[in-house]
Amino acid sequence: MGWVRVSDDFYDQRKFYGVTALGDALWIRGLAFANRNLTDGFIPKRAVKGLIDTTGLSISVDNFTGRDASPEDAVTELLTADIWHESGHDCESCPDVPRGVYLIHDYLDFQPSREKVLEERDRVRGRVQNHREKKRKSGVTDDVTAGVTDDVRAMYDRPQPQPQPQLRLNKVSQVLNRETCEIDSEISVINSSLKGLGVSNFTKLHAELVNVTGRSVTVQQAYEIVLDLLSRASGIVEKPQAYLLTAIKNSWAELQQSIDEGAVA
Ligand SMILES: [Zn+2]
Repeated sequence: MGWVRVSDDFYDQRKFYGVTALGDALWIRGLAFANRNLTDGFIPKRAVKGLIDTTGLSISVDNFTGRDASPEDAVTELLTADIWHESGHDCESCPDVPRGVYLIHDYLDFQPSREKVLEERDRVRGRVQNHREKKRKSGVTDDVTAGVTDDVRAMYDRPQPQPQPQLRLNKVSQVLNRETCEIDSEISVINSSLKGLGVSNFTKLHAELVNVTGRSVTVQQAYEIVLDLLSRASGIVEKPQAYLLTAIKNSWAELQQSIDEGAVA
């Protein structure tokens, strides 16, 4: 999922003075469409109907009569206000527009271009891959975490009618701290390498994983999950730490399942 940028004073800008809620709606949806499909601000005319549903809305024609609103009414508002352009427009700051499409005015001044988004995706994918390579070569093996896995699992296997995630986490970190300094070095290797990917607090992500899945999650598993979530991000991840926290919360069921099925190492 990606994001579009909208200035917080857009409705006060002169261009928007004559624009009604109908135009606002189409403008926002058009921005989302262009960003999602990486069109650099172009919107095929035939896509408009799918962007705005005017069922049940009417517009007044004069003081006494009205008629059903249509997507075309929203388009007309945006074109009249020069917020959208069509073929033959005279806006000097926007490129020419082919027939059959509209263009969102000044789109690339505020939203990333298709080229930039694709570059960024490649970059993140490359970073994650490099990272995995480095990790593999660093000689930190799964054996390091094996002992802890058993300890932690033994702890979790005890019947716990009422889950107490916070308590569990304390126990996990106690075990991690007590057991072996190899684990500390494992975590510090992971920590410092994830920092290169913009992940500021791996321990917190690990804790959240345990918390939302209610499962014992080894350091190694947490690390794999974090890398996996990062590599599956579809847009630019501007704040990896926050992004990952949200991703973990949102996909707890899927994560729980892959841990149960042993899909993560
Ligand atoms: Zn323009």
